[in-house]
Amino acid sequence: MPFFSISGSEFVEMFVGMGAARVRDLFKQAQEKAPCIVFIDEIDAIGKKRDNSGVGGNDEREQTLNQLLTEMDGFDSSKGVVILAATNRPETLDKALLRPGRFDRRIPVELPDLKGREAILRVHAAQIKLGAQIDFNAIARATSGASGAELANIVNEAALLAVRNYRSAVIQSDLEEAVETVIAGYQRKGAVISDQEKRIVAYHEIGHALVAARQQHSAPVHKITIIPRTSGALGYTMQVDEDERVLMSREEAFNKIATLTGGRAAEELIFSSITTGASNDIEQATRIARAMVTRYGMSENFDMMALETVSNPYLGGDTALACSSETASRVDAEVLATIRRAHEKASSILKDNEAKLHELAAYLLEKETITGEEFMEILDRE
Ligand code: ZN
Repeated sequence: MPFFSISGSEFVEMFVGMGAARVRDLFKQAQEKAPCIVFIDEIDAIGKKRDNSGVGGNDEREQTLNQLLTEMDGFDSSKGVVILAATNRPETLDKALLRPGRFDRRIPVELPDLKGREAILRVHAAQIKLGAQIDFNAIARATSGASGAELANIVNEAALLAVRNYRSAVIQSDLEEAVETVIAGYQRKGAVISDQEKRIVAYHEIGHALVAARQQHSAPVHKITIIPRTSGALGYTMQVDEDERVLMSREEAFNKIATLTGGRAAEELIFSSITTGASNDIEQATRIARAMVTRYGMSENFDMMALETVSNPYLGGDTALACSSETASRVDAEVLATIRRAHEKASSILKDNEAKLHELAAYLLEKETITGEEFMEILDRE
């Protein structure tokens, strides 16, 4: 059947009245071609809440929205015209749009889970030539939090890698390398790093991995590498959760912060000096610690008080502070205390395992990339 697709922003014209005319036109066409499907992408461009700010300028959008509401009301539902719309910001939509008889059914499309990611990878992989024995489940497990578009990108990147290596089919290592490429950027083969820098990076990464492995609740290490990437990362530790997790306990959140501080802690222990290499770890650790205090009620002082509200649950979730500035400074103090405790924990784990730290770092320096199995084997060796 006919499918009409239009973007919300296409309705918003420079001249007043044009948007409304476009809506009328669209619905007239749809009536004539019924049964058919009308799809309005990015409907928030016209469907935003009408406000009373009074300043002109919004007139056009409002007229367009009013026209859309009128058309949807005047619709004969037996005619077989289905109207679909998509938005990333459902909370900004005008309530009138969501009333029964208009857009009355909502289908949230969230980030795919483990099963979803595997299925999405298979869909995209059907379009490329695959070698034997591809383990999609392993790739899906390594891409927790990836969107459909990113997964498509990974498959595409794997195909390019296969071509670049004169292979006629994509093999498992292409897909694995593609995951890293999409997450961390391309390998910088020609990058020149001094031996001293390499040593620091190796100890830093092993520091993360050791702290992770020595904490009961942390996910095992999948891979550690000190091959520099175009994203600027000089190395990284890839952790893979065994299964999809939705709930995170307080201990797990805390251990995660400790693992993030493990890189810096190793630098301190071995070189007695610190580098800029931990900037990303610092950001992540702070985000988790702050969320523990402000959103998850995992702090001593604030019990179950919401200190931050999520204003947009989609697209990464913007948050807004919902407390007095006095409380905000106490929150900061608590966040700092949490991170400090985690950092101390990481330091003491590394001190207790200093011999292993040296052994593993030397091995990593030699091999540049080691797998989780190799890591665990050395760690468990007496
Ligand atoms: Zn790090």
